[in-house]
Amino acid sequence: MTSPARPRVHKHLLPGLDRRIFALRVPDEVDGFVVRTERFVALVDTLSTPELCEQALDLIADETARRPLLVINTHADWDHVWGNAAVEGRTPVIGHRSAATRVRSARALDTLHAKRASDDRFARVRLIAPTVTFDTSLSLDGGDLTLELLHTPGHTPDHIAVWIPELRVCLAGDTAEDPLPELWEGDAASLEQLTASLELLRSLEPDHVLPSHGGTTDPALLDRNLRHLSGLTGRHADAVRAGGLPFEAAFPGSTQLTAEARAFYEMCHHKALRAAAATLASSAE
Ligand SMILES: [Zn+2]
Repeated sequence: MTSPARPRVHKHLLPGLDRRIFALRVPDEVDGFVVRTERFVALVDTLSTPELCEQALDLIADETARRPLLVINTHADWDHVWGNAAVEGRTPVIGHRSAATRVRSARALDTLHAKRASDDRFARVRLIAPTVTFDTSLSLDGGDLTLELLHTPGHTPDHIAVWIPELRVCLAGDTAEDPLPELWEGDAASLEQLTASLELLRSLEPDHVLPSHGGTTDPALLDRNLRHLSGLTGRHADAVRAGGLPFEAAFPGSTQLTAEARAFYEMCHHKALRAAAATLASSAE
């Protein structure tokens, strides 16, 4: 068991963005977000441990002293919701109906055991499911701001994004990512779902797109991800059918990635290639 320096959360203001929205950043791991409305304070994701979520709650204690807290889970991946135990019983946790199923799955328990074995910072994690769930969309009326929660599957089946129309801000979760988002499985259905979810978010014409990883606010991220994914069954189809499109050829600008990030995105790339090959094979039948 290793005990590397424990990550910490800090409040991060995003350039060009309304001050009612800010990030709670765990460097090199994930960004949670806070949206302060007239009626409530929304915490979007509880980070990867109860300890980190408690730090996040301390950072927004001034806000939540005056308004009720609402917690939203974008999807049941460990880095986004393993802090849920810190808010259990204190506030509703809103998420997609299938997030509750994922939290209670054998796969989630396997991941927890593996993470605990590799790092004792996960010792206090308990798998807590959302308490308020929906299927397609849910609107939270904060008075000055509306949070529209939209089912956006493809990265995971339970994924939701948050659209704030008054500010044209999209909290994209892991649907969009630089250089590419990860598919749930390397199959045609995941590729189709993620593409449809990216198209849905793009159709909203956001001015700011805030993914949970990478720290950007650039709305063109949706276009870049869509262009890349459509290219796998379009302009790169011959290379995909032939069994390979090198990572460097797909992402020539990716040279600044750390070795760890590079290994992760190469995995995502190979999953996307498998999904594209499956799509091409089924359309050829
Ligand atoms: Zn993530």
